[in-house]
Amino acid sequence: MNSVDEQRRLFLLTAARLAALTASASGAGITSAAATRSPGASYPFSLGVASGSPLPDAVVIWTRILDNPLADPQNPAPMPALALSVRWEMAADAAFRNIVAQGVAPATPALAHSVHVDVRGLAPGRWYWYRFMLGDAVSPVGRTRTAPAADSLPERLTLAVASCQHWEFGSFAAQRQIAAAAPDLVAFLGDYIYEWGPYQLKHPTSPIRTAESFSLGDYRARYAQYKSDPDLQAAHLAAPWIVTWDDHEVANDYAGERDERLDPRFAERRAAAYQAFYEHMPLRLNLPAGAGFGALRIYQRYDWGRLARFHVLDDRQYRAGHACTPDGRGGSSSVYRRDCKALGDPGRSMLGGEQQQWLADGLRSSRARWNILAQQTLMAQNSQVPLRREGDARIWTDGWDGYPQARRQLFEALAASRAANPLVLSGDVHCFYAATLARDATRPLSAANPALATEFCGTSLTSPSRPQQRTDQYVAMNPHLAYGRSDRRGFMLLDITPQASTVLFQGLADVHDPLSSVATLARFQVRDGQPGPTTF
Ligand code: FE
Ligand code: CA
Repeated sequence: MNSVDEQRRLFLLTAARLAALTASASGAGITSAAATRSPGASYPFSLGVASGSPLPDAVVIWTRILDNPLADPQNPAPMPALALSVRWEMAADAAFRNIVAQGVAPATPALAHSVHVDVRGLAPGRWYWYRFMLGDAVSPVGRTRTAPAADSLPERLTLAVASCQHWEFGSFAAQRQIAAAAPDLVAFLGDYIYEWGPYQLKHPTSPIRTAESFSLGDYRARYAQYKSDPDLQAAHLAAPWIVTWDDHEVANDYAGERDERLDPRFAERRAAAYQAFYEHMPLRLNLPAGAGFGALRIYQRYDWGRLARFHVLDDRQYRAGHACTPDGRGGSSSVYRRDCKALGDPGRSMLGGEQQQWLADGLRSSRARWNILAQQTLMAQNSQVPLRREGDARIWTDGWDGYPQARRQLFEALAASRAANPLVLSGDVHCFYAATLARDATRPLSAANPALATEFCGTSLTSPSRPQQRTDQYVAMNPHLAYGRSDRRGFMLLDITPQASTVLFQGLADVHDPLSSVATLARFQVRDGQPGPTTF
């Protein structure tokens, strides 16, 4: 069969299917591909669309051409080994009467037929609608927006914050609720995929994919499985995303170029995983000169006028190996600070020298009212035993607790920069936390030990956690932790204004129910110039 025939065979749609697709594309705007697709039908936009990385004049729009995401990964549906030309449109209205930009973008086999278009020349601070076309097929319509003008002070920013969506541990109801909240922006803080899954099914009709991902093909199949979820697609359709990763986009508890198993071929695996991440995220490609995907740079700044500056961090790629690992392996453990000399080593970096300097520069130059560190792991000290002195603490070595000297350097940079209102957002630990950050977490706040920042950690969207009783003990033993809740899955909703940032901890009633309701478990406020979470 020649390639033209092959393309036609893959993407030929019946008249009825085309009518349905066209209706959905020109309808209310927010529809998901999965919701409009009949099972088994061929549809090139089966993974939905996404947008993100907003600038005042630009936003990245994304799709990936794949007609059957739930195909058996051992026998994937054939995709033509040739580049496709995908048309795209960006409009100022949901009905596409006023198209402001359009073009044709390549979808190449080298990048899994993913499409990234950095749409430039847009107006600041406004909503847009976008879609893709291939042959007769039309994608769902995504809604996105540009960042406000650099010198403007917007009245508010509504932000949804999410992390840790392990496919096998529940529905993506939280993503449906994020879409329903219609935020201006979504920040995803890592564990978008998990590289492994237990023998457990979320959807009775979907095939089991339990094997751990190692190769580029494995990771691509895992993303395709995730992206087939209608609720995840809906959250991408609702707003632009800014994204970072944590460990499970690659492998559990990896640190720099070292994984738990000390696999000598880990760098190769990491490069494959990083490439698959880029292929599935609305990111601008940022590779150091001459480097491959193994050095993909994802730390980045995004300004929301003068209201907020997002310092999006990567604390996985450049970090030093875990401290005091049990013999013969890498990865995390729990240790007493006094028993682990390496924790005192000022050379053990979390961000790497270049990113650390970049962050210090970004804090110093910031004119934003709120400086938001959007990053993956818990920054507040979380001692697992009572403590009077730092040395008493028993800590888990994977988060910032495992890199206390790097944390100290970050706090010094925060204080020296005089950047306004630092807010740290984090994920990874599958627990809601509200915390006040200061240099010494074992002593009360004082003029000598001032509050430097406020941290809000989202729980997981689906991933399991520890019993609430244990978390209650942690909160009691760590006075700078104002709140902890590990028995519920969910996400955070922030309302950021020049005067205050309000944070809602949104908990699902039942993570296993795709139609689960959500309720506010706790709400906190940080007022301009007054670090620390207050209840109201
Ligand atoms: Fe996680
Ligand atoms: Ca993690």
